Amino acid sequence: MPTLPIELRDAILQSVDAAFEAQLQFTEALVRFPSTRGQEGTCQDFLFEAYRKRGYSLDRWRIEADDIANHPGFSPIGHDYDQAINVVATHRPRQQIGRSLILNGHVDVVPTGPKTLWDAPPFEPHRDGDWLYGRGAGDMKAGLAANLFALDALSRAGFQPAAPVYVQSVTEEECTGNGALSALVRGYQADAAIIPEPVGEALVRANVGVIWFRVHVRGYPVHVASASSGANAIDAAAYLMQALKTFEAERNAKKSEFPRFAEFEKPINVNVGKIEGGDWASSVPAWCSFDVRTGIYPGEDAKEQARVIEDFLQRAAGQHPFLSNNPPEVEFNGFLTEGYELKPGSDAEALLATVHESVLQTALPEITSLAYLDARVFALYADTPCLVYGPNSDNIHGFNERVSIESIRRITKTLALFTANWCGLESVS
Ligand SMILES: [Zn+2]
Repeated sequence: MPTLPIELRDAILQSVDAAFEAQLQFTEALVRFPSTRGQEGTCQDFLFEAYRKRGYSLDRWRIEADDIANHPGFSPIGHDYDQAINVVATHRPRQQIGRSLILNGHVDVVPTGPKTLWDAPPFEPHRDGDWLYGRGAGDMKAGLAANLFALDALSRAGFQPAAPVYVQSVTEEECTGNGALSALVRGYQADAAIIPEPVGEALVRANVGVIWFRVHVRGYPVHVASASSGANAIDAAAYLMQALKTFEAERNAKKSEFPRFAEFEKPINVNVGKIEGGDWASSVPAWCSFDVRTGIYPGEDAKEQARVIEDFLQRAAGQHPFLSNNPPEVEFNGFLTEGYELKPGSDAEALLATVHESVLQTALPEITSLAYLDARVFALYADTPCLVYGPNSDNIHGFNERVSIESIRRITKTLALFTANWCGLESVS
């Protein structure tokens, strides 16, 4: 499929190498922004400036709930959107020859957890051998930088894509998926999309949807000296958390109906990720709330699964002496998203397989992801082949997150060759 002359192919690959140190430094600069939820704005401004210097057309906007709330892919918003900024850089060719492309990445990173458990400060990136360390290094600032530097490699070789290319830096990927959705609703569409998430130099064939919910339990406060007359909200919450283990087992028992997930021991992870409650060690706690994340299988309706969750919890509450008269409140406060399977047989996938093989000298593996991916926005609501394909990493969402430096180099080369072949090339204007 690739028709690039061999000299041009080699020139593009050398061009990636020539700027690779600058690419790593740019990646490190991105990691220095602690772009956790609510703090994404400054990192987006930094990217905006990097795109501006290169002459792209620019679009920067804050996600407005009203613009997306009626879309079927919308997730409930559980926090302030003041800094929920999206940025898109657009390249338009002089003359369109090839097919258009979206290079997408997300700027938000998950919290670090206790910094004392990191070997080095998470937002002070450092390198050790083949590894670049820092929160977000793998997930996914290496990919955000690779999108940009793949295009730089073409221009350094004297060329630019002969089709529109949209470089998207979106937010909200780690909690709702509303950032990628907002970009779609704003009108950004293309013939294919790539998201260089850190998926181990493989192509994601299928992934789960994700639902977030918060369970609020109310108790009855008394002094601990007469605790038996009160109702302990933390004890009641612990009962519901234990019940969710049964829910998880029931959901995983269905895995044989979903062939791409049957190979996993536990494809559906129901994770209690956060808990708070009570006010005083000597008072029976009057309240407890906990936050839960669950996966759902592709093809399952997220809103219907939300009802299944609510029903399960209320049934469990009905069997508890206190909760049966004081039912918990279940709040859906984030991801309410469906999974997807990437349809095989697209031209985009075939091209990725070819350029991957030419750079890595191995066949392109495919994987199933048990985590949320923004690719569902493209796959479910825009009928766009979306290739999630990116570098090797370790410990994303954990301590000492790191990304392989040579892997970044390889996937940048693949992205550059993919873009050159997919879009075609014209000389730099
Ligand atoms: Zn990610």
